Amino acid sequence: MIGNSKFALRRVYCVPKKPRKGKQVPQRTCVGCREVHPKRSLIRVVRSPEGIFVDPTGKMAGRGAYLHEKRSCWEIGMQSALAGALKTDLSAADKKRLTEFMASLSKD
Ligand SMILES: [Zn+2]
Repeated sequence: MIGNSKFALRRVYCVPKKPRKGKQVPQRTCVGCREVHPKRSLIRVVRSPEGIFVDPTGKMAGRGAYLHEKRSCWEIGMQSALAGALKTDLSAADKKRLTEFMASLSKD
């Protein structure tokens, strides 16, 4: 029995829905310059059992660190910040892979 349907309908119209979009963007810190930015504007680097990889999809399993799409941030990251953030040492293969990726980035 829906005796109060008329009343209920009116109540729905009296409460406008507030769109909640564009808020609560996940924030991450760039391990190079230490600036905090929305996750999407940063590149994820992940530590997997096979080594350290650039993770463009952001979906690879493993411990992740974030860097700007800027060579200067990667240079700092490669020195020690990335290894510290990922709690591991960069192997020669990791360094080679990351250096190759870094070479594709713009200088600033
Ligand atoms: Zn940065």
